[in-house]
Amino acid sequence: MTKTCVYLIGDHVDACKIGIASNVKNRLGQMRTHNIASLSIFGTWWFGTGNEARQVERYLHAALRKHRVRGEWFRIKPDDALELIDRLIVDGGITPLKTFRRRQPSKATPKKIFFLRLVCPGCGHKSRSDLTAKEIWRSRFKCSACGSAVLGRQVLKAVSSA
Ligand SMILES: [Zn+2]
Repeated sequence: MTKTCVYLIGDHVDACKIGIASNVKNRLGQMRTHNIASLSIFGTWWFGTGNEARQVERYLHAALRKHRVRGEWFRIKPDDALELIDRLIVDGGITPLKTFRRRQPSKATPKKIFFLRLVCPGCGHKSRSDLTAKEIWRSRFKCSACGSAVLGRQVLKAVSSA
């Protein structure tokens, strides 16, 4: 009875491997010697036994079969795979002992689902932007309601003080 995890190891583009290991860092080390691309652990889901982990691995492999390249390798962005696996774990009523997720680097490409709220300091008109805070800070805006020219940092200040 060895604690075993289902791991998601990927490059930083669109290649992912889903497998099981009791020592995932060793596994990554072995893989690095065979792969040119830089690989990272994107997620681990831990289970009490190897059998349990094996069952979850099979379930995930089957669910992701349309992305399969060969063996345990899948052509999918690691972030997308992570999101998908999290959903499959919940849908499958699976409760891992613990999970780990790679912290996203702060300069990850902004996703359209995240919007920052902007408030015009002149008239209070609210709008939303999918730009990052840094991009907003550097930009100039023209309020679509009152027409005043506003610096990005003023808009952000209004947001953070709201
Ligand atoms: Zn305005």
